[in-house]
Amino acid sequence: MEEQKKVHVMLVTFAAQGLINPMLELAKILTSKGLWVTFASTEKAGERMRKATNTPATDKFLQFRYFSDGWGLDADRSNLDGYMNQINLVGPKSLTQLIQNLASQGDPISFIIGNPFLSWVLDVAEELKIPYAMLWTQPYAVFAIYYRYFSGLNLLPPVLSDADIITDITGLPTLRVGELPTYLLPSNPYINLSEALSKTFKKLKKVTWILVNSFIDLEREAIEKIPDVPPVKLVGPLVRNCGSNLRGDLWRSADCLEWLDVQSPSTVVYISFGSWVVRSEKQMEEVAWGLLRSKRPFLWVAKPPENATGLWGLPEGFLEETVGQGKVVDWCPQVEVLSHPSIACFITHCGWNSTLESIVAGVPVVVFPDRGDQTTNAKLLVEVYRTGVGLRTDPSGLLRKEEIERGINEAIGGPRAMEFKENALKWKFAAREAVSDGGTSAQNIQAFVDDLLLLL
Ligand code: UDP
Repeated sequence: MEEQKKVHVMLVTFAAQGLINPMLELAKILTSKGLWVTFASTEKAGERMRKATNTPATDKFLQFRYFSDGWGLDADRSNLDGYMNQINLVGPKSLTQLIQNLASQGDPISFIIGNPFLSWVLDVAEELKIPYAMLWTQPYAVFAIYYRYFSGLNLLPPVLSDADIITDITGLPTLRVGELPTYLLPSNPYINLSEALSKTFKKLKKVTWILVNSFIDLEREAIEKIPDVPPVKLVGPLVRNCGSNLRGDLWRSADCLEWLDVQSPSTVVYISFGSWVVRSEKQMEEVAWGLLRSKRPFLWVAKPPENATGLWGLPEGFLEETVGQGKVVDWCPQVEVLSHPSIACFITHCGWNSTLESIVAGVPVVVFPDRGDQTTNAKLLVEVYRTGVGLRTDPSGLLRKEEIERGINEAIGGPRAMEFKENALKWKFAAREAVSDGGTSAQNIQAFVDDLLLLL
């Protein structure tokens, strides 16, 4: 054990909840194997995590260290593209400084793990001659799509148009263009995110390992059919264990577990659009009336946009009309909520963490994706994992209240409801198997750790 502590792994993550959560779970696993780990993100992320969940400075073999993004803690970071410009500019120097400071304190870094959205972390690692692995935080199927696209490989046109019909990507179901990751499409407004991905894929050969937050059983088809890539290991699902107190939420959770405790088993609709999707007020209104019409109990995370506080987009009179039916909060402990026995289904934006968390909890879904990989994840949930219901927007792109009501009723009480639940439970057990002793993901993590120990 003592010897292993000499391998010091730094995990570097962009300050987004969907990236922090799986990275923190990976950190916990690596420390449980006796490795010394530094979890690094921006100073602003550190401040928010401390405020929201008392994230400590150290926890056994794990320490949290933060680097500057060049802006004061009170600066407005709500424009993602502008913020990425800033962090891309300042981040390399700040991170290098942090690594050099640790080395001068007798605590040198021997390995770095980054994520695909901070492509310069690999450059820092290369400059400092530190080996680098990437944690891919989306499905392997999406990795395969990006890989094909950025390598000019089969079947994806080099320039996609919003109107293209894609019929056949090996190992995946037939995808319409609207089901591809939106960062590849001309309509994508998040230019810095697609550029980061493009840079990451161009440098992929320099990565020693690609760790994927998924598991083999879930994506067997996509994995078997993919052309050659650098060493890839599926190590997920990296989902927080309800018993673990160490968390890195950027927002403080509202109390809602006691409310769930008094609901009947398998009755509550849980609805959340993740950490950064903000629906229009018109859309929120449709969601609200759809929930009311369903007449089922609900827990809704109506998270406000980045610079606002309180609940977002509730139509006038909604809270009064639904007293006794539902509860609305601005942030909740989602993993605990999903595993609560009162939950019947999850209306989700299909972020990959939420998708995996629905699988780990064995909860059927109603899919309502928005951007990035969410569109492809929704397709996987409905057509490959078959744990839930897809919804149809109207020609203006709005999801109407009748459609929301239909989705809820189909997921909980429709003719396929039993099939959704059975499939959800099948994946729940497969996920548990993958991370248990001798499971595929547990073996892959061990192989990775063994490789790290060779660095000694
Ligand atoms: N989450 C949470 N409480 C909430 C909403 C979300 O803890 O009220 C967590 C959720 O469990 C997941 C993460 O935030 O781990 C969101 O990641 P995901 O990939 O699902 O979506 P993103 O926020 O990246 O769009």
